[in-house]
Amino acid sequence: MKFIGAHVSAGGGVENAPLNAKEIGANAFALFTKNQRQWNSPPLTAKSIADFTANCEKFGFLKEMILPHDSYLINLGHPEEEPLAKSREAFLDEMQRCEQLGLKLLNFHPGSHLQKIDPSKCLSLIAESINLVLDKTKGVTAVIENTAGQGSNMGYVFEQIAEIISQVEDKSRVGVCIDTCHTFTSGYDLRTEEAYNHTWNKFGEVIGFNYLRGIHLNDSKKELGSRVDRHDSVGQGLIGIEMFKLIMKDDRFNNLPIILETPDETLWSEEIKLLRSF
Ligand SMILES: [Zn+2]
Ligand SMILES: [Zn+2]
Repeated sequence: MKFIGAHVSAGGGVENAPLNAKEIGANAFALFTKNQRQWNSPPLTAKSIADFTANCEKFGFLKEMILPHDSYLINLGHPEEEPLAKSREAFLDEMQRCEQLGLKLLNFHPGSHLQKIDPSKCLSLIAESINLVLDKTKGVTAVIENTAGQGSNMGYVFEQIAEIISQVEDKSRVGVCIDTCHTFTSGYDLRTEEAYNHTWNKFGEVIGFNYLRGIHLNDSKKELGSRVDRHDSVGQGLIGIEMFKLIMKDDRFNNLPIILETPDETLWSEEIKLLRSF
């Protein structure tokens, strides 16, 4: 079964996210559990936590099909001590929020070397960050998202993600989310059936489908290999509609959250309907 949704608003409280997801006909969703552009947010209240679970049950969302995204400020591979510590603390807080909400996954961008350290050193710092946080939490998997490779962002080639995973101690609580826009702009083609098969075979060989925990399903405004991150609506961008049809027919993407981060949220309900029609 396919679980399809979008990154919906949690404005007014996390308990509103399942309502927003229901409105667009989703059976999966993504959310921020705190303000994604601020370091500090007030803790979740007991009422908010209880209402979140009640709303998930009421609208039929499985906790396993919810893919929270961490704050954009966090850099788990930061080259400097103080900001690295701050990032690790903030990531721990994000993991603990997921624990409180009964969520199983936390999606994050691996980190950036900021041209100050060797990329391989940055990958080790990221793995160390994951180890530290997994040690202090239970039941939540750290889900590494592949990036477009903008600036000094790591995780834009599958080998870098495999390297991080190889240095994580508890392999049962590390996973991967593949963003199709990032995949395409980082240089892996997905436009034709042949290209699609080639890219996913590569993913299977280098990382392995056993680590796949979610998909960010986006078209791209930017070209193959441009290493620029600009999402486009389903079928409107440079990847095109064929990939979306292939993903919907591909059993390897059953039973994991498939999340739209497409830019026009007024289209989400139609996009979900269209995807289901494939
Ligand atoms: Zn992301
Ligand atoms: Zn994404």
